[in-house]
Amino acid sequence: MTAVRMDGKALAEKLRAGIADEMKAFGESVCLATVLVGDDPASHIYVSRKHDACSEAGIESRDHRFGESTSEGEVLELLEELNADDVVDGILVQLPLPAHMDESKVTLAVDPTKDVDGFHPLNAGRLYQGDPLLVPATPLGVMALLAEYEIDLKGMEAVVIGRSEIVGKPVAMMLLAEHATVTICHSRTVDLEQHTRRADILVAAVGRPGLVTRDMVKPGAVVIDVAVNRTEQGLVGDVEKDVAEVAGFLTPVPGSIGPMTIAMLLRNTLTAAQHRREGVAVSGT
Ligand code: NAP
Repeated sequence: MTAVRMDGKALAEKLRAGIADEMKAFGESVCLATVLVGDDPASHIYVSRKHDACSEAGIESRDHRFGESTSEGEVLELLEELNADDVVDGILVQLPLPAHMDESKVTLAVDPTKDVDGFHPLNAGRLYQGDPLLVPATPLGVMALLAEYEIDLKGMEAVVIGRSEIVGKPVAMMLLAEHATVTICHSRTVDLEQHTRRADILVAAVGRPGLVTRDMVKPGAVVIDVAVNRTEQGLVGDVEKDVAEVAGFLTPVPGSIGPMTIAMLLRNTLTAAQHRREGVAVSGT
């Protein structure tokens, strides 16, 4: 058996074209501001890709880049300006921030209505209460891909490896909202394999090449590899390639969840703009 390759790249292109059409129909300018601190080459590439994607969809963007030694105060000051700027609909702070900055303090400083990454505690809280407003882009991309392949999650055993605020926890909440039975595994999980082998849906979001081997996967399972690991062999996920011989569906790395994340960032930016025009508040009233 060879798993169906879940083509997130193709779906992302389709979604981006749809967002470009929606932008034309929206008829007003929409603007995303990005904030990047430090010299991490991967982060610079990711942010540039996000700006290219914005421009292709007809979304304006502003690019704020700071050197590694910038103080937290300077970044907080910029966020205050962006929060107050009526032209700016979405704000994205590229993570990770340099070690001298407090990521949760910076995340908290973004206006929740402009929080297109969905990391602000108010947005996270709404997701956990089953009433989401702005949801992190990567988990949103995972869910859109599952929907595209008509995977019915109701009653399924879903196992998520990883419990970060960016991927693991929000994707687990979204699977739960679709009525899957969800297990979250992490670095202290005893006997990971015992959990993964009963998963109908397995989401790997760790950042360790080769973590998921074919003997850990239930035959026919849907396997979503979120990870991006830079190795001498190029970019790889957490899932071994020969899992394709066991799984029913599998996402390639690179070229599936990465492109979906960018498409979902555009979706969130347009959603944030629409909410602001409609006066939708984070409190939900
Ligand atoms: P993270 O914050 O480092 O979290 C990694 C998680 O993996 C943690 O919860 C950790 O457990 C768990 N873990 C570590 N070793 C483990 C092990 N041996 N067995 C089971 N669990 C283990 O990473 P992240 O930000 O969630 O990102 C995860 C991966 O997704 C990375 O490769 C990242 O590059 C990728 N990613 C891709 C995209 C995309 O657009 N494609 C977007 C975001 C992230 P503890 O909590 O116990 O430490």
